[in-house]
Formats: sequence, structure tokens, C-alpha cells
Amino acid sequence: MGKPTLIVGGDTLMQSTHKTQNAQVVLELLQKMYPNAGCTLDFTGPLELLIATILAAQCTDVRVNIVTKELFKKYPTVEHYAQADPKELEQDIKSTGFYQNKTKSIITCCRQIIERYQGQVPSSMEALTALAGVGRKTANVVLGNAFNIPGIIVDTHMRRVSQRLGLTSNDDPVKIERDLCAVIPQMEWVIFSHRMVEHGRKICIARNPRCSICLLAPHCRYFQNLNSGK
Ligand code: SF4
Repeated sequence: MGKPTLIVGGDTLMQSTHKTQNAQVVLELLQKMYPNAGCTLDFTGPLELLIATILAAQCTDVRVNIVTKELFKKYPTVEHYAQADPKELEQDIKSTGFYQNKTKSIITCCRQIIERYQGQVPSSMEALTALAGVGRKTANVVLGNAFNIPGIIVDTHMRRVSQRLGLTSNDDPVKIERDLCAVIPQMEWVIFSHRMVEHGRKICIARNPRCSICLLAPHCRYFQNLNSGK
């Protein structure tokens, strides 16, 4: 009978240890590459960040920041959004795309914040994800950047880059978040998320990753497979 193999989150112990060590190296290199990474949405508090993050779905942060510059002046409180005329709000956010759904989410979500939390944006994953239009990604953005509560933000960049690096084999964002939380120290979760997104935007781009100039290449599963012809 062979030796029993200890299983850790679907991996053998050896695979799990290797992933953790690889994640540590990736973490250090990302820190060198993107020392100033941070949230690229403009905001001054939890409500503004919540609204900006809802608007950022299928839209660039640059575009969102252009729109919110005026939006935040026109709608300074949660009550302003809750009582907004939907047609008018639609026009105010139109250039961020999907503006009808986003308008519905913003108005309903702000009404729920007034009804359930006396107008204060809640600071727990459970309460945030129970609001209209707020999923784990949005909640983690708000928790990490407005409340300093650590979370890993799995957006399209995080998903692609972490899969290519071999930090996860999953496709479901919740499972990816779980895999990353297991190998990245908690105190690094938020800044790691920002650095991975910046890497995804600048180097590990979707169509043609710029592997030839990527410092992570020696630690990247995608790059290794590319060179071994897999
Ligand atoms: S080596 Fe290529 S695939 Fe791997 S992280 Fe760098 S750019 Fe992305």
C-alpha cells in the first residue's frame, strides 16, 4: 500500500506548498513592478465608491471617473439617489453603458441602505451582497478600499492573470477568490488585487500577453506551457 496523500483544497500537500511558495514570489515581484498600485476609481467615502463600482461594470475606470465628477456633486447623499428620477439618472450615467440596469440597481440599493441601515453603507460582506446590484466583487472593492477590511477582488483581469500564473485552476470567481485567499497573506489581499489588475491592464493583456517583458514569466504556468509546446 502506498503512502497516504494529504489533500489540501483539492491539491496534494506538495502541490499546495508549491502554490504557496510560487504565490509568495509572485507577490514580491508584483510589489517591485507596481509599488504605487491602488484603487483607480475616484471617491471620498463608501457611498461614492459603491456607486462608482456599480458604474464600473463593463466600463473603464477612466470613463467612470469622468461621469462621477459631476454625478457626485448632483447626488451628494444616499437620499438623492433613492429619490432620483430614473430617466434623469439614466441620462446622467448613460456613457458608462448598461445605464438602465445600473440606474435600477443604484436607486433600489440606496433605498435599501436607507431602510435597512439608516442611510449608512454597511461594512460587511453579507449586508453588502444583499443589496441590489452588489456582488462579491463590488463588495470586496468597497470593503477593502473604503473600510480597510481585506478581501480579494476577482474581476476579469484577476481571473485571467491568476489562471495564467497557475494560482488557480478554477473559472468561477468565488472559487478563484477562495484559492487566492488560501495562498496570499490576508494583509496583502487588497494591494495584491490592485497590482494584479494593473498587471492585467499593462502586461498580461487578454489577447496577446507581453510575456517577453514580464518579470513573472519564470513563475508562470502559461509561459512554461507555451515554451514546452503544451
Ligand atoms: S508570463 Fe505572460 S502569461 Fe504569464 S503573467 Fe506574464 S504576461 Fe501573463
